[in-house]
Amino acid sequence: MRIVMLGAPGSGKGTQGDLLARHYGIPKSSTGDALRAAVKAGTPLGLKAKAAMDAGQLVADELVIGIIRERLQAPDARDGFIVDGFPRNVAQAEVLDSLLAGLGQPPITHVVHLAVDEAEIVRRLLARGVAEGRSDDNEATVQNRIAVYRAETQPLLDYYAGRGLVRTIAGVGDVAAIQARIVATLAVAETPVAA
Ligand code: ADP
Repeated sequence: MRIVMLGAPGSGKGTQGDLLARHYGIPKSSTGDALRAAVKAGTPLGLKAKAAMDAGQLVADELVIGIIRERLQAPDARDGFIVDGFPRNVAQAEVLDSLLAGLGQPPITHVVHLAVDEAEIVRRLLARGVAEGRSDDNEATVQNRIAVYRAETQPLLDYYAGRGLVRTIAGVGDVAAIQARIVATLAVAETPVAA
């Protein structure tokens, strides 16, 4: 399985992606986690990414593409993977397609779209900001991230829907129940042909 997690900030992509990775025994790669680690470690990547992250804007495509390229080349990603936070715009989605083709890997098999309404998103992100001290989970940055999601990332639903890959799951309620819904949906959606 080659899964893209898609959803607004705070929709639960990271949490559900981790559980899916464990369920299927495949690695998960999160550009947000990788960027936060780079910021914390003060690497050149982190220094370049920090301002955009704090403002709730997208980091330059070439920076996140480098992260994903490296991760997908690793041997443990050969038989399947989950990406969380990438792609975030159509240009990145096109790069992901060509990266896989270049590596001789089959294309994306599923896009898991976690649907959560905006009031709930804002509530979750502000609560996370208080609980975890994530510097981009403050009121002004949250509004920017939602706007960027709508403008840049939501169009990916059309990009992937054209290929019949999108599985929309209600991302509200109990974490384990959401996970069960995703797994049940992907089991039905799985194509019988070797992919
Ligand atoms: P969110 O909860 O907002 O989805 P993430 O942890 O996925 O948060 O990402 C945090 C920030 O890292 C984003 O607001 C953005 O600045 C940057 N980022 C993460 N992934 C990407 C990407 N694929 N392209 C550009 N910027 C990214």
